[in-house]
Amino acid sequence: MVTVEERYKHLERTIRGYNISADFEQVRSAYEYAREHHGAQMRRDGTPFITHPIQVAQIVAEMRLDSESIVAALLHDCIEDTDSTYEDIARLFSPTVADIVDGVTKLTRVKYTTMEEEQMENLRKMLFAMSRDIRVILIKIADRLHNMRTMEYQTPAKQKKKAFETMEIYAPIAHRLGLAKLKWELEDLSLKYLDPVAYDEIQRSLEAESAEHNQFMSAVQAQITERLTEQEIPHTTVYGRVKHPYSIYRKMYLQEKTMAELYDLFAFRVLVDTIPDCYNVLGVIHDLYKPILGRFKDYIATPKPNMYQSLHTTVIGDEGIPFEVQIRTYDMHAIAEYGVAAHWKYKRNLRGEQGEGTYEWIRRLLENQEDADAEEFIHSLKIDLFADEVFVFTPRGDVVNLPAGATPIDFAYSIHSVIGNTMVGAKVNGRMVGFDYQLSSGDVVEIATSKSAHGPSRDWIALARSSEARSKIRQWFKRERRDENIAQGRSAFDSELRHAGLTMGQVTDSGVLPAVLKQSGFQTLDEMYAAIGYGGYTAAKAVNKVRNEVRQQTKAAALEKAAQTRAEKEAQEGRPPAPPKVKSEKGIIVEGLSNCLVKFAKCCTPVPGDEITGFITRGYGVSVHRKDCPNANPSRTPAAEQGRWIKVSWSDDIREPYSTALEVVCKDRSGLLVDVSTALSTCKVSVTGLNSHATADGFAIFHIVLSVTDAEQLSQVMRKIHQISGVMKVNRPAG
Ligand code: MN
Repeated sequence: MVTVEERYKHLERTIRGYNISADFEQVRSAYEYAREHHGAQMRRDGTPFITHPIQVAQIVAEMRLDSESIVAALLHDCIEDTDSTYEDIARLFSPTVADIVDGVTKLTRVKYTTMEEEQMENLRKMLFAMSRDIRVILIKIADRLHNMRTMEYQTPAKQKKKAFETMEIYAPIAHRLGLAKLKWELEDLSLKYLDPVAYDEIQRSLEAESAEHNQFMSAVQAQITERLTEQEIPHTTVYGRVKHPYSIYRKMYLQEKTMAELYDLFAFRVLVDTIPDCYNVLGVIHDLYKPILGRFKDYIATPKPNMYQSLHTTVIGDEGIPFEVQIRTYDMHAIAEYGVAAHWKYKRNLRGEQGEGTYEWIRRLLENQEDADAEEFIHSLKIDLFADEVFVFTPRGDVVNLPAGATPIDFAYSIHSVIGNTMVGAKVNGRMVGFDYQLSSGDVVEIATSKSAHGPSRDWIALARSSEARSKIRQWFKRERRDENIAQGRSAFDSELRHAGLTMGQVTDSGVLPAVLKQSGFQTLDEMYAAIGYGGYTAAKAVNKVRNEVRQQTKAAALEKAAQTRAEKEAQEGRPPAPPKVKSEKGIIVEGLSNCLVKFAKCCTPVPGDEITGFITRGYGVSVHRKDCPNANPSRTPAAEQGRWIKVSWSDDIREPYSTALEVVCKDRSGLLVDVSTALSTCKVSVTGLNSHATADGFAIFHIVLSVTDAEQLSQVMRKIHQISGVMKVNRPAG
């Protein structure tokens, strides 16, 4: 019977074996503190509870972790199982130790209720996300390993459950961190409870043949050692082992073979000092035994993502028995066994030689640690892999992955939009919380819904972090409030229509309605009303389109006819008669035509005061250009169309402002947009469009659409903008 004190002494010896400068005083006081607080608690196997933390610390020490890790391992169950608190540990030991213990406690409290395959990866990620310090997860793995080693005293149901979790969650995590030794043991122990019959069969068969196996292995070992000595390869270690039960089990299962038929039951390792020696040894092995084609793998040139490096080859021995040989340096071996945990001691071989794998982050972290010592290295190794995600549970135990800062709103909408739309309350870990509560990994989130819920409120959009939730909320407003939107849109449209002096009859008659809907991209009138109702479209725009369409349709035919008559008359009489009295349209007098449809050309947007000219278009009335517009140059018009140019002038009865455009080129700088908008507002012109873009060479170009009464006011605006520092050019675009 080993006493508690003896176990502790053994732990101290292990630590001294790799870290002579460890803080033994602190380690002892952690041990004493834990022993005192766990008091008379017993484990199911009848040993005092304190043996568990000591054994966990022992595993952590075998991973060669720093003093803080050992201290935290000794204290890891104190917050969970005794009256000790975070504050006690922070005060008596250190805030870092308290953080680690707290982290382990949080992982312990995670309840795994799901067994679904696709959830497993999320569960693994969640554990990473919750372990902001990598030591938390290393200690948690050690804790799980010791619990698995002592699982035989638990109920069969608990054994199965823990074994499943271990196999699906902890062993893969150990693998990713490169903790091969721990991973194997976790897998073997899990198999023992998950498939006891197969496990027993493998164990029995291994035991029955162990004498034979040992004989075979020592023969091969002697053969290899002898040849390496002949070749004068220095400082080699050669040993053989039978593969682990779980790896045998997997091979049997995948290849549907009995143990006797298994390809490679044996694995040998050759450890050497340098990489060139590895390849020398490989040559020796291939010379000594017949290699199996296609079984050679060079993980030295191409390391595995978890930093594993080795040469693997499978050969056939004298007796026709195949076996695998792994060749690596001592440094690579330590990393193979203890992965990230061993790295601080063996980092010199890994610098800059890693591939860009999934665990690139580990590499980056490790690279930054080149000069740090053992204590410092692990200390600063933080897990930032999932820093921008949180992982939370549904009440059923499913894991939901959300962006960092997510709220119950995001959670509800990620389950289903119906849950989000009928949400009336939220509980996190059993307590009611507000909708703005920020979720953290491991939280269990429950949403209360009600059929009589009013639906989402507009401020939920700001509280949601995920674009999924936001767009679902927007959709709701668009869809659920459709009737309301239509009614609101209709009344806005009607009043705008009256304001413009038009009637609904004009809209529904003739081809006006279909043309307006087509131009604005709606299928039906209700659809347009709904869009106006929820703010996706404006009544003013709709009525504007109606007005244009009505005018166009009633006048186009007349204009076309007038143009024809005029041409005929000119042809007959040579000269037109004196123009009749004309009426202006939009402030434009078209020579010889009254009540004529007029529009201003988009290319040059003339304003009163500009010299102008008109062109009779086909079906769209007279288009008015600035005389200096390239499009108004008659030489660019085909000969047959020359007769369509017509004299136009500004009338005196101009009342409304005219829309026109400016282009401003500036040297880009901060505050420019503010200065431009200030200048525009001091000129008291109304701006209907302002957009800017930066060019690659450091300039900003503004496009401004504004309304002015005349050319005079426009040039005033242009002068004002020109005065802004950085402005190089103010243009009226044309052509
Ligand atoms: Mn524990």
